Amino acid sequence: MVQVQTFLGPREPDELGTTLIHEHVFVGHQELDLNFPHVEWDAQQALESAVSGFERLHSLGVRTVVDLTVLGLGRDVRAVQAVADRVPVNLVASTGYYTSNVLPAYFHTHGPGRLVDGPDPLVEMFVADIEKGIAGTPVRAGMLKVVTDREGLTEDVTRVFTAAAVAHQQTGVPITTHSSPALRNGLDQQDLLAKQGVDLERVVIGHSGDSEDIDYLRTLMDNGSTIGMDRFGMEHVLPDERRVDTVLALLRLGYADRMVLSHDAACFSRVTPPSWRAREAPNWHMENLPRRVLPMLQRGGASESDIHQMMVVNPRRILEPATRS
Ligand SMILES: [Zn+2]
Repeated sequence: MVQVQTFLGPREPDELGTTLIHEHVFVGHQELDLNFPHVEWDAQQALESAVSGFERLHSLGVRTVVDLTVLGLGRDVRAVQAVADRVPVNLVASTGYYTSNVLPAYFHTHGPGRLVDGPDPLVEMFVADIEKGIAGTPVRAGMLKVVTDREGLTEDVTRVFTAAAVAHQQTGVPITTHSSPALRNGLDQQDLLAKQGVDLERVVIGHSGDSEDIDYLRTLMDNGSTIGMDRFGMEHVLPDERRVDTVLALLRLGYADRMVLSHDAACFSRVTPPSWRAREAPNWHMENLPRRVLPMLQRGGASESDIHQMMVVNPRRILEPATRS
């Protein structure tokens, strides 16, 4: 059987259990941290708080959490390793690049036909992260992450997608996107990835739960992808009641096998620090689904088997690397 990579080594897909497929442990910015440290960031305190958070999550039945913090969001695999070493939840690392517009200048001077001619460093990094380990550690990535937003498919964003498609085809590791559903741009993402030969069944169109446009969401799923209803608790964007109504409507239409549920929350994020979250988005944390949202779904008519499908079966199917063709 093909195994899924976690911070503590490979796991059989059946061991993954209830999975939150789109979350973040520490979202930071190393250059800002060096020069303009955030007043709320304390590495030791953040570690302790993440450890107790994942312990509580485990007691609520969650067994696996995918950390989609890639480059551009301050990925620090050693900091997350220190958490993973102490918690009973499987943590899965990811690779990719979070940019909706331009890459750092390094990538403009390095690559095929560029000033410092050679292979695309993005492809080299993504494949090495998946096959060898991230940043000199033995931690291997189990997911690829790409982004489009308002700026659309810029030259650099297209390059990231292309590199992710190549790495996906070489390794079988799935792709998750950050999309902006108000722009219906999950369709552009599918179009580009399909042109690059990616099987859309291996793609999660992330942040689809920000949308209430049933026709748009059905089209993404009919094209083969799973949609990420992955921002529960982000009530400053859309209240959970309305997110729940959309999931229930799609369940009634028979799409239980094409949706995954998560929060896009973080143990600590410099972008939206703890004091802001406590004030403006008090439900935006990883316990929101087990404590509050899953019961809302059940009261609205979702069955035990619908919940199991979305929380266990679908994440396992996606995370299990496809065998190379
Ligand atoms: Zn995210």
